[in-house]
Amino acid sequence: MITFKKMKALHDWSISKKLSGQTIGFVPTMGALHAGHLELVERANKENDIVVCSIFVNPAQFNNQADLEKYPRNLTGDLQQLQDAGCDVTFTPDEQEIYPEKEQKVYDFGHLEKVMEGKYRPGHFNGVALVVDKLFRIVVPHRAYFGEKDFQQLQVIRALVRKEGHDVQIIGCPTVREPDGLALSSRNARLTEASRREAAKIYQALLMARDSWSDKSIDQIKQQVTAYINASPELEAEYFEVVQADTLLPAEQSATHNGSRVVGCIAVYAGDIRLIDNMTLNS
Ligand code: AMP
Repeated sequence: MITFKKMKALHDWSISKKLSGQTIGFVPTMGALHAGHLELVERANKENDIVVCSIFVNPAQFNNQADLEKYPRNLTGDLQQLQDAGCDVTFTPDEQEIYPEKEQKVYDFGHLEKVMEGKYRPGHFNGVALVVDKLFRIVVPHRAYFGEKDFQQLQVIRALVRKEGHDVQIIGCPTVREPDGLALSSRNARLTEASRREAAKIYQALLMARDSWSDKSIDQIKQQVTAYINASPELEAEYFEVVQADTLLPAEQSATHNGSRVVGCIAVYAGDIRLIDNMTLNS
């Protein structure tokens, strides 16, 4: 496995591989890798000649300084896991390499960035877009792999690709879960024992919403989900929204009849750790 820290060296390497006819699959991450990340790497491995994975804790996407400082980091363990998973190239730049000067660029993703994560984490998606845009220019991959766990992020990335004209195929991959249903997340490592146990209720709440889809109104489902979460002393729901998959506009019950996908998206504080998850409700 080759490790690059400098963007020019990686870019030149990528271009030479593309010119020789090899396809590149790219998996951007913030490290503290778990089986969810490795699933993306495996999929990229199957579908491309070369897999590039970046590890960069992107300050621009944190709207909370304490969250950034406490974000788990484990570079040595990450590199070992990537090697074992068959990753060919890692990119582990420092902050100066990615942001040599203060970034001014402001994207407009319209409604996609105004709701849910965009509403509760102002500036978050601008920070995500800044780094992903840069990474795409450096790596110039054929395909890039993102988890559906960050459902709204996936839609913002698709919009970014359209807006900036990147020649890359975006591939959304299913959420990998713990045996009790909790979505794998780097942040899970920071849960207390009690909040880790209770956090499985996030998945239960989403299953409940899916089960209720055909016989309850969306308002009733929202009430049911938030009441269930908030009944736990360890959990507090920040939002639960029922949205149309592509637009993130509020879903209507009638969507069951025209075949479009409806997703329930949730953010929950488990103690002081903020977790997100989602599930398709109408399938
Ligand atoms: P992160 O390191 O949290 O920025 O995540 C890097 C990529 O891994 C993103 O595309 C995430 O959506 C994806 N990812 C994170 N957790 C999971 C999971 N449990 N299952 C599948 N993909 C995930």
